[in-house]
Amino acid sequence: MATWIEVYHWCSLLMCGRVPTWTINTNNTLPIDIARRIKGRSSHLLREEFPHLTTLPSLWTRSTFSSTAGTLSSEIIEQDIERQKKAMKRAKTPTFLIELPLQVESATSSRLRAHLETARCLYNALLSEANQRLRRMRNDPAWQAARAIARSKKQERAQAFSHLRRKHHFSEYELHEYAKGARVSWIADHIDATMAQALATRAYQAVNRVCVGKAKKVRFRSPGRGIDSVEGKRNDVGMRFVLDPNAGDGGFLIWNEQVIPAIINWLDPMVQHGLRHPIKYVRLVRRKASSPQAKGADVDGNRYFVQLLLEGHAFTKPMHQERGQDTIGLDIGPCTLAIVPREGKADLVTFCEELAPNARKKRRLQRKMERQRRANNPDNYDEKGRIKKHGTTRLRWKESKRYQATRRQHASLERRGAAHRKSLHGKLAHDIVKVGNTINIEKTSFKGWQKQYGRSIGLRAPGMFVAHLERLVAKTGGTLSEVSAFTTRLSQYCHQCGQYVKKPRSQRWHRCPCGLGPVQRDLYSAFLLAHLEAEKTLPSVTRHVWEGAEPRLQAVMEGLRQRANEGHCLPPSMGVVASRKAARAGARRLKSPVNRQQEPIIPRERAEALSETQEPPRL
Ligand SMILES: [Zn+2]
Repeated sequence: MATWIEVYHWCSLLMCGRVPTWTINTNNTLPIDIARRIKGRSSHLLREEFPHLTTLPSLWTRSTFSSTAGTLSSEIIEQDIERQKKAMKRAKTPTFLIELPLQVESATSSRLRAHLETARCLYNALLSEANQRLRRMRNDPAWQAARAIARSKKQERAQAFSHLRRKHHFSEYELHEYAKGARVSWIADHIDATMAQALATRAYQAVNRVCVGKAKKVRFRSPGRGIDSVEGKRNDVGMRFVLDPNAGDGGFLIWNEQVIPAIINWLDPMVQHGLRHPIKYVRLVRRKASSPQAKGADVDGNRYFVQLLLEGHAFTKPMHQERGQDTIGLDIGPCTLAIVPREGKADLVTFCEELAPNARKKRRLQRKMERQRRANNPDNYDEKGRIKKHGTTRLRWKESKRYQATRRQHASLERRGAAHRKSLHGKLAHDIVKVGNTINIEKTSFKGWQKQYGRSIGLRAPGMFVAHLERLVAKTGGTLSEVSAFTTRLSQYCHQCGQYVKKPRSQRWHRCPCGLGPVQRDLYSAFLLAHLEAEKTLPSVTRHVWEGAEPRLQAVMEGLRQRANEGHCLPPSMGVVASRKAARAGARRLKSPVNRQQEPIIPRERAEALSETQEPPRL
């Protein structure tokens, strides 16, 4: 039987003299909902009556308290609390970012420097406090006891740790509280409350990484390194960005008493798109320019930018709107990438082929810096020219102005390379998504690769590429699944006979006694990945599928062989090396091979020996 109750909200009655009533069916309404409906309705009425209340984000807090335990079953109350917890977690909205350069004059820049220096001090204080709390927590005997709990007892273990965190006030929220107390006197002149909270969150996250074993230690910011970015939490208090239609559609970053104009190119569709969306919060970023004379740089050679964190989805260029539906297998190697879609054209490419670092210039700058360091600090080297061993005292290093200039040149060389790499990654990712947005890759530890292929990984950054691709695929509504190489062992698998045979890494071709092959191993494993269904360890390849794919894979290798014969240098891991005669003729045609530096250097005899072992017999 349904009971109907009527509710009068006395608060509203007292304040605006109107009597709002609700009719609520108690059979299907939880007590929390009753309270929420009262709050919502009364808030609406109050705001109607008193317009100044509309500036507040929300009138009532979102939590409610029900004291009717006498008549309600505890089960419903528990259900209530669970729902409340879920509601408390704010719904996440998509965020994207645009960056605008700031027009900073010398007076403003010195104020900004002071603000950032204060942020650095506060951050270090917060980091130190969080560190101390972590240390206290770890020294507690209960910590060892909690660690001794078997991992299989998940709940018990988690409970023990969360109890410890509460006991030692080690949480983001508690650090916010500490930041509130630490933001006093001169610090409060520079840093507002929300920015202090953002810094506290940052410090907590850094220390928490140590706590959960993802990092070994935290790094305090030295005055020299400083802190290069600060952010707020909202765009209505503290540091914020406003667009002023009266000032020629200018945008301004407001931080304390500073009003800094941003340079907005209204003709840029990306900027246009971004500024149509509501701003969640803003971030100020300081970057080093190549020199104080560089465009837009201040006396210290810094440029300032504002990053707007906006609600919504990022702008998609018209050229990138095309999206395919194919399923793609990607095999990522240290310097190659095999792309095999189920239907479309396959490819085996050198990863970021255009990336040609000027190794000579870089090395010269490094040597110059080394000479300058030695000339500036003769006391720090022993008679054999080695850096002196220092016990407990640290060596002091002097930097000349010229040394700093060389360092800036070196840094800007690296920065340009990184920007180029990023754009190449973006282009490659867009090309892949154009074909299909269901992508299978093997889960790889790029960190493990660093030891073996350090130079190539440092140059090409495959991990970064995967992260980029993942974001892009998510944006287009596709999926990128990382398949565990450990369970699938696709590089050892042969679909025709179902055997697993381990191949040494130098063996670049898959040839099976059952008659399959020869096929380039990276292409083959990308092909298997393309046909791997979700949650399965065996790819579903029928004879028909293989007959469709084989010519496509062979066409790729034919193209590569032709390129090699024309004199292009291909990475040896592709397993294609031109015949000596063709290579010589090709080298004569191509006066200066474009990407000389990035090719792994292999003595000619070894390369040819390799080619003999790797090249399949001509059919
Ligand atoms: Zn086989």
